[in-house]
Amino acid sequence: KQAKYAALRDVVPITLDGERIAVNINAGLREDMPNLQLTGADGVGLYRTEFQFLVSATLPNRERQTRLYREVLESAAGKPVVFRTVDIGGDKSLPYLRHDEDGEEENPAMGWRALRLALERDSLLKVQARALLEASAGRVLQVMFPMISEPWEFDAARAVFEGQLAHLRKLGKTLPEAVKYGAMLEVPALAEVLDLLLPRLSFLSIGTNDLTQFLFAADRSNPKLAERYDWLSPAILRFVRRIAAQGHAHNVPMTVCGEMGGRQLEALALLGVGIRRLSITPAGVAPIKDLVRRVNLAEISAAMDGWLAHPPVSLREEMTAWAAQRGL
Ligand code: PEP
Ligand code: MG
Repeated sequence: KQAKYAALRDVVPITLDGERIAVNINAGLREDMPNLQLTGADGVGLYRTEFQFLVSATLPNRERQTRLYREVLESAAGKPVVFRTVDIGGDKSLPYLRHDEDGEEENPAMGWRALRLALERDSLLKVQARALLEASAGRVLQVMFPMISEPWEFDAARAVFEGQLAHLRKLGKTLPEAVKYGAMLEVPALAEVLDLLLPRLSFLSIGTNDLTQFLFAADRSNPKLAERYDWLSPAILRFVRRIAAQGHAHNVPMTVCGEMGGRQLEALALLGVGIRRLSITPAGVAPIKDLVRRVNLAEISAAMDGWLAHPPVSLREEMTAWAAQRGL
């Protein structure tokens, strides 16, 4: 298998009916970056910047952040990297960033986390914006904001970046060649107002880990619930299909960056509901590229529409049989 995967490094993931599927990796540490060349992935579709914060004993200052982001971009050697601003708070709480006055949160996943925290701890986002902008001097910066629930949160975060950009311009620093702003869709409420936000986005990334948690009201870290709801469920797939159709209609590139995209049947299902870009765990790249080259998109889309119109008792069993019949 190892040799087969290595052989797939330079293989281009194109479906039988000729559609190029983007296969990116998720990363979060400097040490993850060699995976980009090893797997031959298209880029980094999700760089989780909070990892640097989580492994540090103190808040990483601007210089340390800038150094990391620059190293990440350098090791990407021209392939695109999408940085996600810090998703801390909640269960990823930091001892040096406590909000003791508020006490412990009963539902940290739905709590004061990610952009909610970053917009209030304004200096945190400012420092990160400045670091990302400086590290991207002369290059394209792609940045996305996690846990957006309402469009104004995107606007507010973007304004912080634009403010820092203006500041750097005044200082006469080399600016990024371009800055592209994206949003993560992981809170179901955003889906209901997505038409309002899409015209302002350069790209959208669907975080199916949190999205599933919130759609099913099922804590993603509770082992008792880990097996209860299947990613191959009509609810999730209909939801993603609707988002995908909206994104395509607005010409906004859309990526699924949750763990489900790295699994065979789940990736197949995502292709079937209109997703053409994945960002996955590096170990999944070779098997998913291999899968893509054996898939006929028209066929899986038609099958998926049928299943989602009249869901079988177990979509997983149905899809397993379907895939086996076609040697997938
Ligand atoms: C997600 O929620 O699907 C996601 C990609 O982000 P994280 O797993 O870091 O919350
Ligand atoms: Mg998430």
